[in-house]
Amino acid sequence: MPGFEIFSKEERKEVEDVLETGVLFRYGFDQARQGHWKAKTFEKEFAERLGAGYCHLCSSGTAALSIALASCGIGAGDEVVIPPFTFVATIEAVLNAGAVPVFAEIDETLCLDPEGIEPAVTSRTRAVLPVHMCGSMARIEAIKQLCDEKGLILIEDACQAVGATFNGKALGTFGHMGCFSFDPVKTITCGEGGAIITDGRELYMTADAYTDHGHDHIGDDRGLEGHPILGTNFRISELNAAVGLAQLRKLDLILEKQRSHKKAIKAALSEFSEISFREIPDQEGDSATFLSFFLPDESRAREVADEFAQTGVDGCFYWYDNNWHYIRQWDHIKTLKSAAKLPVKLLESCPDYNKLELPKSDAIMSRTISMLIKLSWTEEEISQRIEKIASVLTR
Ligand SMILES: *Cc1c(COP(=O)(O)O)cnc(C)c1O
Repeated sequence: MPGFEIFSKEERKEVEDVLETGVLFRYGFDQARQGHWKAKTFEKEFAERLGAGYCHLCSSGTAALSIALASCGIGAGDEVVIPPFTFVATIEAVLNAGAVPVFAEIDETLCLDPEGIEPAVTSRTRAVLPVHMCGSMARIEAIKQLCDEKGLILIEDACQAVGATFNGKALGTFGHMGCFSFDPVKTITCGEGGAIITDGRELYMTADAYTDHGHDHIGDDRGLEGHPILGTNFRISELNAAVGLAQLRKLDLILEKQRSHKKAIKAALSEFSEISFREIPDQEGDSATFLSFFLPDESRAREVADEFAQTGVDGCFYWYDNNWHYIRQWDHIKTLKSAAKLPVKLLESCPDYNKLELPKSDAIMSRTISMLIKLSWTEEEISQRIEKIASVLTR
């Protein structure tokens, strides 16, 4: 998955353009920057590549989520339906907006189950925030339909799924806004960076202003710009945008490699009857950053994960025991422990996450192993990996 595996002269060239001019700020300095607008160029090319009306680049995927929530008007006391299998950033963004994360079950897509959303909806629900985990997609059409019926905002966390599509349409373009991360381990990276995309001009304008202290970015004198709203600083630097621009231009190459590597490993795993695969609503659209599969039960999944590790089948994740991506190990969320008092604690409706029960998600996650698909694997390394996998599964 990680784009850093293929850093080369292209990234260096884009960064050198910026260093040569000394303009590290994405706005202004029109003369000094000698025509180099890395953030702006990234935004234009990204929106075109994904078929979105607008893109705004920002400092991280977490920032993108905060920007999306704010721009869609999600704030104090609003409830947001989210899945328990995600990166903690999704939950932090909701809490930091003063809003309330409401967890709903996932299904065999490893993403929010459309049928799990309805029971989580209350009179306070304003938005649904599905996360397209591990490079593939949620049942996004069904989720969108449900949101439309109920008048809910749909924000997609596509931080792990850049370049993935459902029926030919890019993930991130189904909702009001889509969020992406270009952190150091994502499919393409800026070092640190993120983006929102949207088709809504108003939403885009709000996002653009919110990311930069409310500046309306009208005219060519920053000191004279209006500030229609309060915002914050989630800006990206030109240096980070420059790396991302070179990486973006490699996205198709990255996807092609991942898909071919994944296909080989998946074919080998298919030989074993105890293995079944994560449901992927549109196989063609899978970005193939991970191969996720199920074992018959929890104890067998644990056993296989351990034996893979011992045999040198690296890059495998048993999320159920891992404190990165599944709520089971997140005591800081269950106790709402942050550096300071969170706004959610002022609410009468503040949930007690210690009492949270997600039996369906537990049943799925306890049987799931995900294998990272690397770009740098050679044919030989793939064959060796397949041999090791087979040696574990035939034991
Ligand atoms: C990486 C990630 C984020 C946060 O992105 P950062 O750029 O690291 O802040 C949010 N959601 C998901 C699902 C992610 O994988």
